Amino acid sequence: MEYYDSNTVLYLNGQFVKSADAKTDLYGQSLHYGYAVFEGIKSYNTHNGTRIFKAKEHFDRLQRSAELMHIPFPFDKNELIRQTYKLLEKNNLKDAYIRPLVYCGTNMSLSQATESSIVIMAWEWGAYLGCNLQKVCISSYQRPNPKSTHIEAKASGNYINSILATTEAKNKGFDEALLLDIDNYVAEASGANIFIEKSGKLYTPSLGSILPGITRATVIKLCKTLDIECIEKKITVEELKNADSAFFCGTAAEIIGIGSIDDTIFPATWTETLGATIQRTYKALVLEKQNYEVII
Ligand code: PMP
Repeated sequence: MEYYDSNTVLYLNGQFVKSADAKTDLYGQSLHYGYAVFEGIKSYNTHNGTRIFKAKEHFDRLQRSAELMHIPFPFDKNELIRQTYKLLEKNNLKDAYIRPLVYCGTNMSLSQATESSIVIMAWEWGAYLGCNLQKVCISSYQRPNPKSTHIEAKASGNYINSILATTEAKNKGFDEALLLDIDNYVAEASGANIFIEKSGKLYTPSLGSILPGITRATVIKLCKTLDIECIEKKITVEELKNADSAFFCGTAAEIIGIGSIDDTIFPATWTETLGATIQRTYKALVLEKQNYEVII
């Protein structure tokens, strides 16, 4: 995977610089302790031009993550959105993945950051989990205890847990890991939220031990439009394994069906599930197709 070449530029603290020339200090807390916050955003080549999906929501979450982590956020979010559009233009990108990262200055102590930088990068990235139904295992790793960190912040250090979980899942021959929370309720995947379908209704884990996904919120809204009952609650592994179908959702993963969890295969045919309906509707929404709700 090539993220940049000699022509690529990134946005760094108000300026566009060549990615190959950009530098960072190695004496910093972000690199050593994972003390940084970031976002994962997508832009789409729509018939209305290149559009960054839910740009405001993503930059709002970036700021909230920084505040929760006591990392200064002296940036104007509207200006960041404007500069992100410029970044896409300069790199000739339309369908792109956009990665803003707020990281800390020179400081090797375990004290709160007093200065920060922002870098925004973009590259072409296909569907994060691919297009096939996912073969998923329940991870032996739990999501971090929400009392040991701010799990609702998209903080770099939290992703060590995600790397461990996906590494274990892939080594065991699965596509993706599903992590439980500290009370053994279903939480989320390494980089996506989960919904299950049972008897014509959708269920998703309530907030508390998960990243409050922007796609998750979009799916909940779509359910209202589509008159699908969607319930946020604590979900047990037994409920999960007795579901008719299930899917992951996330900015990079979009909506992707789950074929099986451990040895349990979901009985419903994917194309006939509520997840498949949400998948089609979500695609129409991000592409700004008119009357997306009547397409189904
Ligand atoms: N959970 C985790 C752990 C994630 O990394 C992501 C991806 N950001 C999500 C859920 C989905 O969040 P979103 O829909 O905002 O991309």
